[in-house]
Amino acid sequence: MIDSSFIERVRQIVGAAGVLTDAGDIDPYVRDWRGNYIGKTAVVVRPANTEEVAAVVKLCAQTHTPIVPQGGNTGMVGGGVPDTSGDAIVLSLKRMTRIREIDLANNAMTVDAGCILQTIQNAALENDRYFPLSLAAEGSCTIGGNLSTNAGGTAVLRFGNARDLVLGIEAVTPDGRIWNGLKALRKDNTGYDLKHLLMGAEGTLGIITGAVLKLYPKPQRTCTALVAVPSPRASVQLLATIRGAMGDRLTGFELMSRVCVDHVITHFPSTAEPFEQRHDWQVLVELTDTLKDAQLEDALATSLEPAFESGLAEDAVIASSESQASALWGIREHIPEAEKARGKSVKHDISVPISRIAEFIERGDAALNAAFPNAQVICFGHIGDGNLHYNLSFPGATPSVEQTHAANSIVYALLDELGGSISAEHGLGQMKRDEITRHKGEVELDMMRAIKRALDPHGIMNPGKVL
Ligand SMILES: Cc1cc2nc3c(=O)[nH]c(=O)nc-3n(C[C@H](O)[C@H](O)[C@H](O)COP(=O)(O)OP(=O)(O)OC[C@H]3O[C@@H](n4cnc5c(N)ncnc54)[C@H](O)[C@@H]3O)c2cc1C
Repeated sequence: MIDSSFIERVRQIVGAAGVLTDAGDIDPYVRDWRGNYIGKTAVVVRPANTEEVAAVVKLCAQTHTPIVPQGGNTGMVGGGVPDTSGDAIVLSLKRMTRIREIDLANNAMTVDAGCILQTIQNAALENDRYFPLSLAAEGSCTIGGNLSTNAGGTAVLRFGNARDLVLGIEAVTPDGRIWNGLKALRKDNTGYDLKHLLMGAEGTLGIITGAVLKLYPKPQRTCTALVAVPSPRASVQLLATIRGAMGDRLTGFELMSRVCVDHVITHFPSTAEPFEQRHDWQVLVELTDTLKDAQLEDALATSLEPAFESGLAEDAVIASSESQASALWGIREHIPEAEKARGKSVKHDISVPISRIAEFIERGDAALNAAFPNAQVICFGHIGDGNLHYNLSFPGATPSVEQTHAANSIVYALLDELGGSISAEHGLGQMKRDEITRHKGEVELDMMRAIKRALDPHGIMNPGKVL
């Protein structure tokens, strides 16, 4: 139980600066980014280092006090906020922001879990290296949150998800011990790879306190383009065409429907209509190369020629300056904010094999439009990874529980048929904890529960999330 003597013991561990108990100070830690989940806690604990995290977790293990780990609190599924019981502490990693080491010869960087993603990207660039994880929340999400959700983002196509960018991690186990897994090895076959258990576990198996990240050569040339396409099916064919021509230079391939572009133009008035004519679908393409004299614009223009001839592409803008490139990215990156400004919608973060993504959109749109003639499908995302944010908005209204349930049923049934996932990159959190039991088999769920029981027998790590 969290009472004054518990809080006093926490204060002795982390000092006064590491404890928040005033309602006003606590408020931002108990609300999720979307405002869908508002929980309660009596105390937010902000340790300054791994030893303090371990001592706090040990105290919680002794007193069976639940812990909700939190990074930047940008998660989309209510995983980083407590429930309404008030029984749990929020353990925020945001004071742990050290870049511990940069090993250029090994192309590796060791960081505290509370480092903001953008700080890590910048530190890599300052050292003539590149850390490729990139998402619209990069100015406020933390690497600990990124690893705990196995975040995706806009460069998965080339570099993989967050877990693919990690050599080692340090974590505090649910009984308060420190596991130093900060090995900076690219090869290490010595039994179970435990770091992969903690990554993607959304804080239910322990607290990630540090990580060794892989660094890559810094791109010397970048080419950004927006291509108008007649349909999602054409975008998938265009992906194959450009990938065939450009190989690993293709780092981003993001689809946006007309509705998304309109919403961004409405809510961010500095955004310009990118083409003279309105197009139903657009793809943002990014190419990078580590060669200084790579002629990416010319190569892209050449690879688009057959696409124009065959009707796969309708128009294209190739950015001629950094500011034009960032304006094109701005359209894509402002979609979540623009959508949030329009009110609540039914959200889906889905994936299917790339070969089936066009079928998913065609059949999903048809079924949702038939069931909800006045609603609007908002479709955008990482089509190059087979991952879309596929939301349903009811203009001027908040979707009811029944509408949400009916929309989910349509989308989830289609995903099951096409071999897809109900959560491609945001995780399960509170939002999809019950739903996932309808999509995973008993064997898989039993293995997950057995791992949870073995590592966290008292169930204190982020209860009510994932399982
Ligand atoms: C505008 C916007 C765009 C986004 N775009 C993307 C995108 O393209 N791709 C994508 O994958 N996500 C995206 N997200 C979702 C979100 O940014 C990611 O899930 C991110 O990885 C969360 O990081 P965080 O530090 O904010 O974690 P939080 O939200 O604080 O926590 C997320 C989960 O991780 C756990 N956790 C946090 N830190 C730790 C830790 N150190 N140890 C153990 N558990 C921990 C929490 O308990 C929670 O379950 C977006 C969010 C926003 C607001």
